Amino acid sequence: MNPTVRPTPARAALRLGLAALVAALVGCVRAPVTDRLQVNVVPEKLLLAVGRSTYTEMLQGQSLSTKSADGAVLKRVGQRISRTSGRPDYAWRFNLVDDKDTLNAWCLPGGKIAFYSGILPVLENEAGMAFVMGHEVAHATAHHAAERMTQQLALLGGMSALYLAVDRRTELTDRQKNVMMGALGVGAQVGFILPFSRKHEKEADIIGLMYMSRAGYPPEESVEVWERMEALSGGRSLPAFLSTHPSHAQRRANLREWMAQAKKRYQRSALREDTLRALWR
Ligand SMILES: [Zn+2]
Repeated sequence: MNPTVRPTPARAALRLGLAALVAALVGCVRAPVTDRLQVNVVPEKLLLAVGRSTYTEMLQGQSLSTKSADGAVLKRVGQRISRTSGRPDYAWRFNLVDDKDTLNAWCLPGGKIAFYSGILPVLENEAGMAFVMGHEVAHATAHHAAERMTQQLALLGGMSALYLAVDRRTELTDRQKNVMMGALGVGAQVGFILPFSRKHEKEADIIGLMYMSRAGYPPEESVEVWERMEALSGGRSLPAFLSTHPSHAQRRANLREWMAQAKKRYQRSALREDTLRALWR
């Protein structure tokens, strides 16, 4: 046996550290508004292609409200918000899915956005929609998907190093090794991926708040949206897209922290005199 060929945990950790350093040097970008430094090794071209094909797949077989009045409002809000986001190069898409039982909205890389009609009563008016639209647009412009993929790649590297370390402990039975690896995997999911996702949600709220203000929508409505969401969910289990989000109270507190800045942007917005539509009760 050649000892130089067999990877040691120290060598694997070193390799991982070097990979992280290369990643940090190659893929450092900043998020809009918050200016947070991000490590991102996923090429945007690849991400845009995945966003495009996944969007088509996800909307296939769904009933889309393309010609309805609500669908037209969604497009208008989406266009106003995306124009303030500094990404005219994205092929933005805004679709309303006719599904009253689903309280949800999502965004794929490159600005492919869908809202479900079940969320409309919570949004209540065009400004409420503008806040959630701003939030979804922010996930795209702040490269949250790419950052998450980068993290998962790093996690995969870290898991491989741990596996090599556990595998070398010859006194453990295979069953013990498996249990140990399972526990490490779950720990990594909860401790690493989930909190980061909350960070993304908080950041999307802040960026979304700024986008809606710049697009001429009164920023105070953002807090109202979370109040209505809380009233609706009171005691019941939350919709899937909220389950990893920060608490409603926490979100309102974050928004209030940035409200003065948002109001200044709103006051400067040339679009704020536009009549807003009160909708969906
Ligand atoms: Zn979100």
